[in-house]
Amino acid sequence: MAIEQTSRFDAIIVGYGPVGAAAAGMLAQRGWKVAVVDRMTDVYPLPRAVNFDGEIMRVFQEMGLSEELSRQTEQNLGAEFIDAKGNRIEGFDVPKGATGAHGWPDGNFFHQPTFERTLRKHAESFDGVSAFLGYEADVPDQTPSGVTVHIEPVDGGEKCTLKAAYLLAADGAASPIRKALGITFRNLGYDCDWLVIDVLLKHKVDLPLIPQQVCDPARLATFVPIVGDRRRWEFRLNEGETRDEIQEEDKIWELLSPWMKKGDAEIERSAVYQFHAATAERWREGRIFLMGDAAHQTPPFLGQGMCAGIRDVANLIWKLDLVKRGLAPEDLLDTYQEEREPHAFDLVDHAVAIGKLMEEIADAQVTGNWPENMDAIYGGSRGFPRLHSGVLSQGSEEESGKAFGFVAPQPKVSLHGNPESRLDDVIGSKFAIVSKSDVSDQISPENKAFMERLDVQQVVLPEEARTSKELDLVLGFNEAVILRPDRYVFGVVNAERGLNDQLDQLRSKF
Ligand SMILES: Cc1cc2nc3c(=O)[nH]c(=O)nc-3n(C[C@H](O)[C@H](O)[C@H](O)COP(=O)(O)OP(=O)(O)OC[C@H]3O[C@@H](n4cnc5c(N)ncnc54)[C@H](O)[C@@H]3O)c2cc1C
Repeated sequence: MAIEQTSRFDAIIVGYGPVGAAAAGMLAQRGWKVAVVDRMTDVYPLPRAVNFDGEIMRVFQEMGLSEELSRQTEQNLGAEFIDAKGNRIEGFDVPKGATGAHGWPDGNFFHQPTFERTLRKHAESFDGVSAFLGYEADVPDQTPSGVTVHIEPVDGGEKCTLKAAYLLAADGAASPIRKALGITFRNLGYDCDWLVIDVLLKHKVDLPLIPQQVCDPARLATFVPIVGDRRRWEFRLNEGETRDEIQEEDKIWELLSPWMKKGDAEIERSAVYQFHAATAERWREGRIFLMGDAAHQTPPFLGQGMCAGIRDVANLIWKLDLVKRGLAPEDLLDTYQEEREPHAFDLVDHAVAIGKLMEEIADAQVTGNWPENMDAIYGGSRGFPRLHSGVLSQGSEEESGKAFGFVAPQPKVSLHGNPESRLDDVIGSKFAIVSKSDVSDQISPENKAFMERLDVQQVVLPEEARTSKELDLVLGFNEAVILRPDRYVFGVVNAERGLNDQLDQLRSKF
């Protein structure tokens, strides 16, 4: 009988998609010993995600990948809803080269397989990462002190056993781990079939430069420019249409005929996806954490599915690391779902609202009954979600210049005559007090000791040190902001909220 080899790690990650790969890299950066397991040996070959936002680029900035990824990406120059005749109903345009509040373009188009290889290369550049590729992971067992998972090569060979303190289930939408734990989904009710077609242009074709939601009563569609010669269309299946008939080559060219003719492009792939809208009811079971598509799924109308998964990683990793280092209590890990689930749910709900609005706008062109509430439309009034509870001080966004509970804007800064750099690079992956003037002498001895223990950074940013304006509004309303390692604003300091009060509140969480 073969003896199973047992290896020990700090964390096991099941699933080496973009979410698992980002988690492996971020843990390894903090010195963790990580096993990452995937039944596939290479990245998923076909693009699914095509866009990530500026906040997500900041996570990659923390990983040291933003310069490389900015060479792989193309800026999103806007987005619009159009009617059946191609007229803009509503939308927005972004000037070329413009950066948003995060100091990076608000939308970045990318080629998912190339991007995932970059994430894997980053993770595997650390000695602490062991990649078990071509291995199927069994359902994990856990005790109060650790997790065990048996893995087996998919094409035969010896099983091994992995043991670790924690397991991250980044095992995708079908997540065998989520199912084995009996975790159900909160369904938001958008289970529609869409045909997704990716093409490679053979020569220059006159196509829109921005994504379009085509509200055509004959058929809803989406167009996305992506990067280089790649373009994407998504067509909703009409009632009674089958997956097979819509994927026939002649049918695909008929669908593409308003944009281009056969011979203009090569079809790289076509696939029918059922778009789902759901979030998992539990994101943590003891030492096991769900993340990425295992925890939430969204129709792609906002380009936020993978972004939400990367936010999961950015939220959980610093908490796990503080707990492992004995600097935070174990129940800090319960704030992972508390913070992430409502945020993810809000974005899924927004994407569903876009899908429904497309239907209503298409119908309106026939009936004349235009929808009254257009807040979900691109350029509409529906804002980006914030955190409402968790590792946050008591506060209200209205009073604090819309800072509290949001990711803080990232300016460029020049400190003490040093060359210009991005603020996050100055701070590192740590808590920080960012203030307009030096506040050191206001800090109580208890809070000073706490700051030393957690290595809380202090950055003094008078106006002249800020070489770009992103943080000016927040610092206009407040004397200082207290940032978490993932750049969310824990709290603000102003006439109503004293610095020590805010630090006392932060200290009480640890
Ligand atoms: C048409 C479309 C367009 C999209 N557009 C966007 C977009 O523009 N922006 C955006 O942010 N998101 C977008 N998304 C969503 C995005 O593609 C997904 O959210 C993202 O790829 C999910 O990543 P993940 O790492 O969570 O899961 P996956 O990439 O699915 O990875 C899960 C991995 O787990 C492995 N696995 C599962 N079970 C086991 C097991 N038992 N043992 C070993 N390995 C296992 C699988 O092999 C797989 O590699 C889009 C999705 C679609 C379908």
